[in-house]
Amino acid sequence: MDKKITIAIDGFSSTGKSTLAKQLAKVLGYVYVDTGAMYRAIAYFSMQKGYIKTDYLDKESLIVSLPNIQLQFHFNVELGFAEMYLNGENVEKQIRTIEVSSFVSKVAEIPEVRAKLVEQQQQMGKNKGIVMDGRDIGTVVFPDAELKIYMTASAQTRAQRRYDELIQKGDQVTFEEVLKNVEERDYIDTHRSNSPLIKADDAIEIDNSNLNREEQFELVLDLVKQKIS
Ligand code: C5P
Repeated sequence: MDKKITIAIDGFSSTGKSTLAKQLAKVLGYVYVDTGAMYRAIAYFSMQKGYIKTDYLDKESLIVSLPNIQLQFHFNVELGFAEMYLNGENVEKQIRTIEVSSFVSKVAEIPEVRAKLVEQQQQMGKNKGIVMDGRDIGTVVFPDAELKIYMTASAQTRAQRRYDELIQKGDQVTFEEVLKNVEERDYIDTHRSNSPLIKADDAIEIDNSNLNREEQFELVLDLVKQKIS
């Protein structure tokens, strides 16, 4: 039997990490964990409590509340992936809005938030057989992962993908707004002092600006096969 490994996928927002990770998990029978959803759920919680607004973040109240935040993934058989639950409530839709996207990187900068989520992520992956995507998976969460992928694409390409997704969902956004959000998150994610987004030394970089989903999937599946056989 093939051995079970840990697959870490990191990269900028809207590089198609989750699409690739979901496809891999399905084919390999692995668990898929979208760590961005966990940071988004904490941003959504902070919005609901009034801890975060434009140009305002009450870090102290959020840190004090952290023990009361329960995050869980429940697999949705119909959709074929796990949905995010915040204190027992399915928040999958709420965490994907542009408003949450505009606050999430500020919340993700807080060391106490990262410590809580990293610990939970390490627990989820302790038996291997996992595909996890995020910003710090290959560097901090699973530095010993057998396969690390670092995905990139130009900000324009990524903003166009994100814009198309939001419009399809019926959200009222402009391309400029989405591009600005993508660029702002890139900046914060790569410049924060705690676990910035960087390519792990042993990660394989894939620029998918000019690759379609199938090409990218085949490429990574080949890499996986080399590791598990
Ligand atoms: O992957 P997604 O775009 O949903 O992530 C939302 C945000 O959560 C990122 O822009 C980043 O600020 C934060 N994040 C993080 N570390 C992770 C995953 C996400 O800081 N492992």
